[in-house]
Amino acid sequence: MYHVTLLPGDGVGPEIAEATRRCVDATGVKIDWDVQECGIEVIEKVGKVPDSVLKSIRANKIALKAPITTPIGKGFRSVNVFLRQELQLYACLRPCKTYKGVRTYFSDSNVNLVIVRENTEDLYAGVEFESGKPATADLIKYINSIATGRKIDTGLDTTGISIKPMSVEGTRRICDYAFDWAIKNNRKAVCSISKANIMKFTDGLFYNETRAVAKAYGARFEETKLADGVAADPVLNGKVPNTEGNLLYQERLIDNMCMQLVQKPELYDVIVVPNLYGDILSDLCAGLVGGLGVAPGANIGSDTAMFEAVHGSAPKYKGQNKVNPTALILSGKMLLAHIGEKAAAEKLERAVCAVIEEGKDVTYDMKANRNDPTAVGTSQMADAIIAKMRAE
Ligand code: NAD
Repeated sequence: MYHVTLLPGDGVGPEIAEATRRCVDATGVKIDWDVQECGIEVIEKVGKVPDSVLKSIRANKIALKAPITTPIGKGFRSVNVFLRQELQLYACLRPCKTYKGVRTYFSDSNVNLVIVRENTEDLYAGVEFESGKPATADLIKYINSIATGRKIDTGLDTTGISIKPMSVEGTRRICDYAFDWAIKNNRKAVCSISKANIMKFTDGLFYNETRAVAKAYGARFEETKLADGVAADPVLNGKVPNTEGNLLYQERLIDNMCMQLVQKPELYDVIVVPNLYGDILSDLCAGLVGGLGVAPGANIGSDTAMFEAVHGSAPKYKGQNKVNPTALILSGKMLLAHIGEKAAAEKLERAVCAVIEEGKDVTYDMKANRNDPTAVGTSQMADAIIAKMRAE
């Protein structure tokens, strides 16, 4: 029996969480679900994420989380970001795979990408200075007084500042995870993404450290000169298998990568990327394979993992039994694989694939015409997936 914390979230969260729980249970794997309410209503009432939520996840070390709404511009910061940072879930894994039967603009391409996004640093650190506040003016004065060679010349009272911290250890940790995952999953290439030509001390650091980790892993550099002078010293956790050049190391600037992914996604495999660019690329890649309805994800730390869809709480569809549960169900599949239940994970994925390919018992967003009256609800799509597993 596994113990898993289930966060039903808010908006459409409870509906897709229930659909996913039923599908995961139908694989036959015995899970004791500890349901913890952590939606926006609870947060607004308690004023923070209830302690019981963190306690449960820390004890179980595995969580399945439905989306939670984040109010824009005011109030508490995102619960999603808070949980990832609090639990040190530093790696965000987002596979983007073409499933037969899903309509996309790229139906000819066979996309099979995995984004490994750094989850704890970068502009998501939440270190922000609001315009008009004395501390912000003081910071601007300080920055202008030191010799960076640059000054902030906009108004002391009219400028806001967000800080972008990125560290050697944080970058090595995410790159180590990406290379290790690529090897264990027989992938062919890891591509590092940044904007190092503009932000030399953060994105430049990201490239430097990914190169060092790539070298330590014995990867083959696409541009061999990038390996010159790189010390292959970051031997992380004492486990650096030499891949003998079987794994390709690539680098792309974020703007160029956006275009490349739209034009030739088949050139890429595992993508290791800092937090903010990773957020944006995840939605872009979800779009390549048919949208947010089919994009799963996992947030992984050294001993705890939380599985969730890429999409949000879609509040306008709340309580309508309408949205697509596939993204969270595929996150449940990742959860099963993570706990070692590979056969159950594959069985669940096969059932999802079969239902999508048949195209009959699917939600409105998977129909050629979004107003197709034959579209089924969230719960009925889960029923169809369960029926496929039973029929195997
Ligand atoms: P969203 O992903 O909730 O919805 C955007 C649109 O995508 C929806 O209106 C809907 O048309 C479509 N969509 C999303 N999920 C779908 C599904 N399962 N099936 C069919 N269509 C689907 O994005 P948003 O509107 O920007 O965000 C709503 C709230 O969710 C915000 O408060 C945001 O901060 C939060 N959010 C939470 C998470 C999370 O919990 N991890 C992630 C993203 C956004």
